[in-house]
Amino acid sequence: MLDVCLLGTGGMMPLPGRHLTACMVRAEGTSLLVDCGEGTQVTLRRQGWSFKPIDAIFFTHMHGDHVAGLPGLLLTIGNAGRTEPVLIYGPKGTGRVVRGLMMAAPELPFPVEIHEIGETEIMAGTLYVRSFRVDHNVPCMGYRIELRRRPEFQPERARALGVPLRAWNPLQKGNTVEIDGVTYTPDMVLGEARKGLTVCYCTDTRPTPSIIEGARDADLFICEGMYGEEEKKSRSREYKHMTFREAAVLAKAANAKELWLTHFSPSLMHPQDVLGEAREVFANSFVGRERMTKILKYDETES
Ligand SMILES: [Zn+2]
Ligand SMILES: [Zn+2]
Repeated sequence: MLDVCLLGTGGMMPLPGRHLTACMVRAEGTSLLVDCGEGTQVTLRRQGWSFKPIDAIFFTHMHGDHVAGLPGLLLTIGNAGRTEPVLIYGPKGTGRVVRGLMMAAPELPFPVEIHEIGETEIMAGTLYVRSFRVDHNVPCMGYRIELRRRPEFQPERARALGVPLRAWNPLQKGNTVEIDGVTYTPDMVLGEARKGLTVCYCTDTRPTPSIIEGARDADLFICEGMYGEEEKKSRSREYKHMTFREAAVLAKAANAKELWLTHFSPSLMHPQDVLGEAREVFANSFVGRERMTKILKYDETES
């Protein structure tokens, strides 16, 4: 099971009732935050999710509307008594900005490890995070977050092959085992690969082929929709953002199951009124709201 909560849906500046961009993903004991705009703490508290277990923070880019909530959040995590490291990932330039922000949060009781990344895959606790470059006016990344599902363990095969009982557990976990000079590999006892759960998060960018790949077959695609109306297309090109319709075109091309729009321009007071722009292209489009939450579960029809 994986759950996702949108913590802020504003772009550029916060509005009453609309905090700046952030999203949290939790699965099997791992908690990740993507972006940390102003107000992230407020929404997280309202949602009732704990600050303390956040293992890693992934920043899309270093614009203020995505990072300014960081010092306060780190202080709160520290006050909760955390001592384990918090990992921070982001594109080139992240180190300089984050170190600057952390001058406002000195003497934390836990280490902060900052990693500047390109296109790569990171294992963050139980989740795999793949970063991909997008097209904004500063270095910016999108993230594909996956909870992979282990293939099913097949005890009848293990028995038939005479695999000793004490090897079963490590083999189920994907480890190779050697007992009395015999090597046992996971593929001897595991079935076909099974579909996991995927969330793709992408904001502050023009449409790019990398986004279609990053959101490929995603259960949930969270994408910016800075401008609702198509008339704002030239503005979205100029400022390196997207319209609702452009986000929907990406969702369709990627064969995503569901699209949540987020990162609304402060001029877009009622995003719901223009949702039709996205739905004409991709029917399963929704306007992101603060604390909008979704629980994704494995497809149990898959054996
Ligand atoms: Zn932004
Ligand atoms: Zn930006």
